Amino acid sequence: MLPDSAIGLAAHPAPPPALAALWHLVGNTPLLALRYTYRGRPGQVFVKCEHYNLTGSLKDRMALYVLEQAYRSGAIRPGEPIIEATSGNTGIAFAAIGRALGHPVRIMMPDWLSRERIDIIRSLGADIDLISKAEGGFLGSIRRSEELAAGGGGFLPRQFENRYNAEAHARTTGPEIVAQLASVGRRPDAFVAGVGTGGTVMGVGQYLRRLDPAVHIHPLEPAESPTLSTGHKVGTHRIQGISDEFIPALVQLDQLDGIVQAHDGDAILVAQRLARELGLAVGISSGANVIGAIKLREELGPDAVVVTLLCDSNKKYLSTDLVRPEPVRPGYLAPDLRFTGFVPVPRLATPLLPTGPCALTCTN
Ligand code: PMP
Repeated sequence: MLPDSAIGLAAHPAPPPALAALWHLVGNTPLLALRYTYRGRPGQVFVKCEHYNLTGSLKDRMALYVLEQAYRSGAIRPGEPIIEATSGNTGIAFAAIGRALGHPVRIMMPDWLSRERIDIIRSLGADIDLISKAEGGFLGSIRRSEELAAGGGGFLPRQFENRYNAEAHARTTGPEIVAQLASVGRRPDAFVAGVGTGGTVMGVGQYLRRLDPAVHIHPLEPAESPTLSTGHKVGTHRIQGISDEFIPALVQLDQLDGIVQAHDGDAILVAQRLARELGLAVGISSGANVIGAIKLREELGPDAVVVTLLCDSNKKYLSTDLVRPEPVRPGYLAPDLRFTGFVPVPRLATPLLPTGPCALTCTN
C-alpha cells in the first residue's frame, strides 16, 4: 500500500475536461445472463462485457481513475510522462488515455506477451521497453519502471499497489453490477475474477460486501501456475493478464473466499466456444473467468446469481493458442459444457461518473 504522501492529498487544480469526457467511453458496459448446459443440466451466470471499454479491456477503468486521482492530488503534472510496467492491457489503457490527455507514455513489458499487445501500444504513440526472462521478466519490468521514475522520469501509477486501482472497481464495476442486476430483480450472491493486480476482485468485492457481507468473493488463478495458493511463482501458463509471478500488494487473501482454479487449456477451449457458439469473441482470461463462475454456480445451486467479467476481446490473441486447436485434458469443463444463448441486462440509463472524492471507506 502506498502512503498518502506518495499519492498526495493536497487540493490541486481540477483534471483537464478531456478526462471527464473519457468517462463516457469507459464503464457502463453490458451485462449478459449467459445460458449454458453443463453435463446436460441448464444453468446461467452473469458476465460483464469489459471488452466494450474504450481500448477493449477492464483496465481502462483503472487507468482513467488512477489518472483522475493523480490530477486531483497533484501527483501528475500536465504533459508529464507516464511510466508503467504491465502485461499488456494496462499499457494499452495508459497509452490511449495518457495520449488523450496529452502525456507521453513509456511502457515496460515482458517480451513473451502477444505481438498484438506490442503493436497496439506502439500504434498509440507510446514507447515500449521489452524485458526478457534473463532481465527479470515481469519483476524486472517493475524494477525498470521504478528506476526510471526514481530518476525523475515521470509519473508511475504502480498498478499493483495503487489503492485507486481497486477503488476504480469499487466505484464503477461493482455499483454497475448491482444496479444492472437490480433492474431485473436480482442481487449478486458471488463474484469471481482472475487476479492480475487484484484490483478487480478486491474493488468489486469491497463494494459488494458493503451491501451484503455474506456475498462470496473468489479470486481465480491458473491451475498450471497457482501463485496465489503457493505464495510464489510456480510453473507457466497461457492466461495472459493474470498470475504475473507474485502476489500483488493489493490482494488481501484473508478478505476473500476460496481460490478458484481454471486450467489454461480449458480457458482457451471455453473462450473458443464463447466465440463459435455465441459470437462473443473474448480473450483467454474471459474463458477462465467463465469457468470459475460456472464452477461456483454448480456449487452454490441453481438459484445462485454468480457474476464475473469478460475482460477483453480476442483481437490481442490472434497469434496465440487461442486460435489453434486445443487438446482436451482430464479435469476440463469444456467437454461437458454447451453455451445455449444469452439475455442482455440493460445498461444504466445514467452512467455512474466517479468524479470527486470517494464516499466509500477505501482501505487498501
Ligand atoms: N484479464 C486480463 C486480460 C488482464 O489484462 C487483466 C489485468 N492484468 C486481468 C484479467 C486481471 O485484472 P486485475 O489486474 O484487476 O486483477
